[in-house]
Amino acid sequence: MEERAALLARVSAGHGTEIKDPATGEVIGRVAFGTPGDVAAAVDTAAKAQPGWAALDDQERCAALMRAADAIDAHAEELAYVVSREQGKTMNGLGARYEAAGCAAWVRATASTPLPVEVLVDDGQSRAELHYRPIGVVGAITPWNWPMIIACWQIAPALRMGNTVVQKPSEYTTLTGLAIAAVLNEALPPGVLTAVTGAGDVGDALVRDPRVGKVMFTGSVKTGMKVIEASAGNMPRLTLELGGNDAAIVLPDVDPQAIAEGLFWGAFINNGQTCAAMKRLYVPDAIYDEVVDALAALAAKIPMGVGLDEGNVLGPLQNQMQWNVVNRLVEDAKVRGARVVMGGDPDAAAPGYFYPKTLIADIDNAAPLVQEEQFGPALPIIRYTDLEQAVEWANGVDVGLGASVWSADRDTALAIAARLQAGTVWINSHGGIDPRVPFGGAKRSGYGLEFGVEGLKAVSVPQVISG
Ligand code: ADP
Repeated sequence: MEERAALLARVSAGHGTEIKDPATGEVIGRVAFGTPGDVAAAVDTAAKAQPGWAALDDQERCAALMRAADAIDAHAEELAYVVSREQGKTMNGLGARYEAAGCAAWVRATASTPLPVEVLVDDGQSRAELHYRPIGVVGAITPWNWPMIIACWQIAPALRMGNTVVQKPSEYTTLTGLAIAAVLNEALPPGVLTAVTGAGDVGDALVRDPRVGKVMFTGSVKTGMKVIEASAGNMPRLTLELGGNDAAIVLPDVDPQAIAEGLFWGAFINNGQTCAAMKRLYVPDAIYDEVVDALAALAAKIPMGVGLDEGNVLGPLQNQMQWNVVNRLVEDAKVRGARVVMGGDPDAAAPGYFYPKTLIADIDNAAPLVQEEQFGPALPIIRYTDLEQAVEWANGVDVGLGASVWSADRDTALAIAARLQAGTVWINSHGGIDPRVPFGGAKRSGYGLEFGVEGLKAVSVPQVISG
């Protein structure tokens, strides 16, 4: 066995469902999936461990998180190997090693963010302070696109604030979820972080458990709505990071060659399987052909293939369901007469869930490839002549996670940004995130913020001390 496969072997069960590499179909391990009945025991463990963990002072919890980040670094190559084999992403590029390094960076940043007591009033007559107290047990429900780092985004702030966590990884990337939990647990006291496995019914049981005081959920809009409904019984607090359909608006004053790389990776990071990836590109008539040509020339050079092959920077889609979505939307675009600049011709007989890098030009804004979240490597490029129309189109969907404006003139870009209905608007880039900067959605992309001091506040109960 390869040395870096040790962690995968450690979290793989001796029996249960076979888990297959999405690039090759090869069996990489097994998972003995849990059931809703397993949730209560996991929450018991977390609830018992919580008072002791909360009784530590903030510095001690931060020190434990710093050790957990060191453990991630020590196992970085093994973690990257697990996520590459189970999720499909490439070891290189913005792939598996990048995700593992991001996990360590995020955990450290979470443990380094100051959260001082806020003195609200101190006028000699009265005094009011705002403190942030632990909630109790936090349920962390994660998706399959960035299965390690999203788990860290949910787990690390929750732990920092004195909560304990029950994590439920996606059924599509369970081994990765178990791997990151195992590594974090090398540095954490027993019971502070527990993982349960299973599908949506297990997630549902976690949301409904009366001892869970907060649910961190990252997933689809549809499932987010179910989480809201399931939460009505016990009213756990919710942070919902749901889907997006991010628009990018290019203004006529840009140099197409200079922005091509930023546009490409904004859209194709992780093969488009990223919540805040660029999913619709609006380009003015005046430079439309130049932008499309520059993107196509760049895309042609990007190697796609099996994730473990060091030469590749894009891999397969993670699962058949997502492959079907992308294929359906692209086929529909073709029928509508949109122009296939590149790709759009998957080899269905080849092994793995590979879908080629696809650029679709001269597509109608009403096409499903524009209106729905494709979550894959197929970018629609919509031509516009009137900027007002482009802004209207950008805002014309019911989600609003991210958006971007591309212009040589910052003031013009800022004026457009202010009108876009999105939780983050990037200028001359798309999708970059930072552990110091809060991240969250507008409209049906969810509510609540992650990262930074806002992210810490979101996993705690504000308490006013008055007098
Ligand atoms: P995607 O379609 O991107 O996989 P989902 O929203 O279906 O996104 O899944 C995200 C996470 O939510 C997964 O861990 C999944 O098992 C979990 N999940 C699915 N259905 C429910 C539900 N009804 N309640 C709680 N969690 C759920």
